[in-house]
Amino acid sequence: MPKPYKILFLSAEVDPFAKRGGLGDVAASLPKALRDLGHDVRVIMPAYQNIEAGYPGVEPMAGTLQVFTGSGSVTCGVFQSTLPNSDVPIYFIGEWHLFNRPEIYGYWDDAYRFAFFSKAALELARAIEWRPDVVHAHDWHTAPAITWLATAGQHDPFFANMPTVFTIHNLAHQGHTGWEIFNYLGIVTHSLQEEGYGEVNFMARGIYHSTMINTVSPTYAQEITTPSGGAGLDGLLRHRHYDLHGILNGLDYEDWNPASDGRLAAPFSADDLSNRLTNRRALQNKIGLPQRDDIPLVAMITRLDGQKGLDITGHVIHLLLNGFAGEAQFVVLGTGAAEYESMFARLAGYHRGKMAAILAYSAGLAPLIYGGSDMFIMPSLFEPCGLGQLIAMRYGSVPVVRATGGLADTVQDGVTGFSFYDYNSDAFWHALSRAIYVYNVDKPRWQQIQQNGMTADFSWPRSAQSYDQLYEWALARHGHT
Ligand code: ADP
Repeated sequence: MPKPYKILFLSAEVDPFAKRGGLGDVAASLPKALRDLGHDVRVIMPAYQNIEAGYPGVEPMAGTLQVFTGSGSVTCGVFQSTLPNSDVPIYFIGEWHLFNRPEIYGYWDDAYRFAFFSKAALELARAIEWRPDVVHAHDWHTAPAITWLATAGQHDPFFANMPTVFTIHNLAHQGHTGWEIFNYLGIVTHSLQEEGYGEVNFMARGIYHSTMINTVSPTYAQEITTPSGGAGLDGLLRHRHYDLHGILNGLDYEDWNPASDGRLAAPFSADDLSNRLTNRRALQNKIGLPQRDDIPLVAMITRLDGQKGLDITGHVIHLLLNGFAGEAQFVVLGTGAAEYESMFARLAGYHRGKMAAILAYSAGLAPLIYGGSDMFIMPSLFEPCGLGQLIAMRYGSVPVVRATGGLADTVQDGVTGFSFYDYNSDAFWHALSRAIYVYNVDKPRWQQIQQNGMTADFSWPRSAQSYDQLYEWALARHGHT
């Protein structure tokens, strides 16, 4: 089929309208990069409370949408806008009872909320008489659309034989619910081996029913086919491994540019790193650490979640701040699980004057930490892609990471950062002390590593080309060549 394609994007999160993690970033940036390749991309997401309450630039669409479910026909509204700084249309499904809530997830009826959303989004495409060439769904929340298209949708002339792409952003969240959901969606299907008796697993369904599958880095795509990385779905992923691909997420280079980031104390670029010192001092001042220019300032910005390797971090910070690799400072910005918040609070109390723990979400402070620190640690247990290390590299903070998932694909040991394999504190400490050694004794090499990271290309245009290829394969599989 000749390009450009009509691509329908379905996502529970789209930055800046609603975001909890990398999914929101990708659903905002990738459509724009695809638009730049000439494709007609349209995005649909739910209208959460902030949209219903009135969001600048988001307008209600005329008319209503009828969505047929097993429990009757539901009438809902639709809002529309465009993605910021683009002409990519975005639509919001407004169903007051299901989406007019403050949070995106975490409700008892999440499976029904997103099943409804998935069905409504497809109905919207029909209502606006825009038949997509490909439906691109993200994570379990929009997998019901893929399941519906592969089953009931085959008997619907508007949707029959429609290719689908399913992107796994995080296999850890799978969307379990009961079998009744298929009555609600009007689907007749069989159960999967991965589903217990009477149980539905939407992540498994997305993988099983989609034409093409991808995840957000080549290494993670491999890891999830193994029992240790597959979260119970590795057998199914091995079964589909010919259709499973890994495409690295890009970083939005307009949002994240140290030469123009107004949240920094002073701009800088790979050619001239001298202003990093101004940022370092501004950061130390802001977080209450002594103004020391000559010792390594190590940073961490993360959700405080077991996935992020926090159980091997406490011991390493203790060694670091007890001076086992010389003097150092440490700052952590993060919020999440109570056990890790209290771990960092206690460490900061013990290492007063050397460590700052900011247990909050602060989009304003993060750039200063990236731009003012020397090293950025990310010892993740698993990491589908990871944005933190990409931002750190772009801002000249050298990443020290565990070589898993996207971290393994983006950080080259000794070239753009430092990495370790075994998931334990010893291996982590070894990598961090290697980084500190280079920092202390070989400044020219250190600066070279910083510059290598800053000039590496992790922008969206490259990744968008790979998605373009994936759509082509998905279309070919359905006979559209
Ligand atoms: P994940 O999506 O698993 O949380 P990523 O590394 O892909 O991890 O993305 C994390 C993003 O969230 C980065 O942009 C990081 O700077 C940001 N972030 C995480 N925690 C905080 C926080 N407490 N304050 C500000 N930004 C944060």
